[in-house]
Amino acid sequence: MLPLPAAPAPAAPPRRVVICGGGVVGACTAYFLSTHASSPTVPTLVEKSSPACAASGKAGGFLALDWCDSTPALSALARASFDLHHRLAASLDGASAYGFRPVHTLSIYLSSEPEPASPHPLLPSWVNPSAPATPPRELGTPDTTAQVHPGLFTKAVLAASGAEVVIGEVERVIVRNGHVAGVVVKGRGVVDADAVVLAFGPWSARFEMIKEVFDVSGLKAHSIVLRPRESAKITPHALFLSYHPEPSAKMLEPEVYPRPTGEVYICGMTKDEEVPDDPLMITGEPDSIAMLHKIAGKVSTHLKRDEGAEVVAEQACYLPCTNDGMPVIGEMPGVKGCYVATGHSCWGILNAPATGAALAELILDGKAKIIDLAPFSPARFLKKRSRRGI
Ligand SMILES: Cc1cc2nc3c(=O)[nH]c(=O)nc-3n(C[C@H](O)[C@H](O)[C@H](O)COP(=O)(O)OP(=O)(O)OC[C@H]3O[C@@H](n4cnc5c(N)ncnc54)[C@H](O)[C@@H]3O)c2cc1C
Repeated sequence: MLPLPAAPAPAAPPRRVVICGGGVVGACTAYFLSTHASSPTVPTLVEKSSPACAASGKAGGFLALDWCDSTPALSALARASFDLHHRLAASLDGASAYGFRPVHTLSIYLSSEPEPASPHPLLPSWVNPSAPATPPRELGTPDTTAQVHPGLFTKAVLAASGAEVVIGEVERVIVRNGHVAGVVVKGRGVVDADAVVLAFGPWSARFEMIKEVFDVSGLKAHSIVLRPRESAKITPHALFLSYHPEPSAKMLEPEVYPRPTGEVYICGMTKDEEVPDDPLMITGEPDSIAMLHKIAGKVSTHLKRDEGAEVVAEQACYLPCTNDGMPVIGEMPGVKGCYVATGHSCWGILNAPATGAALAELILDGKAKIIDLAPFSPARFLKKRSRRGI
């Protein structure tokens, strides 16, 4: 009998993993690499400014189980992430560490000319009874919607990962014989790596290696954070508003998220605009900030500055958006060991956990089990480009 050929030895999981970008996607990837069941690997994370300095620190932090259900791949990512958020909160004491809590969620069509009205039973007592022009609608219950403080969440998972954090700007990826070998960090030299994860959010568009494969654009969005004088009166109700500032004006869709810290976060007012090079140079535009204050005052007297609400922050940041509206998660075509994760648009805080968990499995086991990553592969853009002859 002929001897059977020996089975190829499984490739050893990479030991030196470098994550580039310290937003929520980079932080969650670090966490799931270091807590992997069979090959835990503590990565190095290189961040240009400071962890959670951009959208991951300035987002709303709203989480929903089933709001991505209309797209099957996104539904799987969101549902797995929603579940992981609950598990993370249980193991990292999310309620006190980063304000994790289930919330009620309402849709309110905001009246432009409020008239005296009696309170609707769904409406929390801190919302002006005259604020809704039509009866409020329930969009989510504490079983299906929740929240975190996004900056505290990002920093908590990063700290729990034990990753070494290097502050510096990643300039390029070093590739040898088609395999990643490290990254060049401006002013610091080379950090060697067997695997690299590019998690630059909207700055992905500026990174040559990514730009050659797909586009990422930044959508600027504004937010304010207020601390009402009687913050104990503000209940855990997230509000999705529709508002016409004038009859002929474009409809605005701001969102209001009370936080367990006693603060209330309000965001909206988006604008297509190129991402500035330095995350710390991002500032809000006065007109957009003024409109958010106007809306806050219409929603609740507690949110009016002249009723004692303290202004904690007035800010802006960028959503990372792709041309087909889907995140990009997977190995870069033609470069073994180089992975990318970006384009999470308005759901990056929700979807970062399953993104990080899937990437950790792909890097350490060779295949993601938690979700099917095929629909998120960066290779999908190569097919489109070659069809267009680019
Ligand atoms: C106003 C607003 C509200 C939002 N609300 C929600 C919400 O309620 N729920 C939800 O799920 N999502 C929400 N989002 C979306 C969410 O914030 C984003 O999808 C998510 O934060 C993107 O995370 P990221 O890690 O990909 O990118 P980012 O948070 O942008 O992080 C990228 C990081 O990369 C760093 N970087 C860039 N270039 C380099 C370089 N060359 N070298 C090293 N580091 C570099 C940057 O400094 C930055 O820290 C909101 C977004 C906005 C703007």
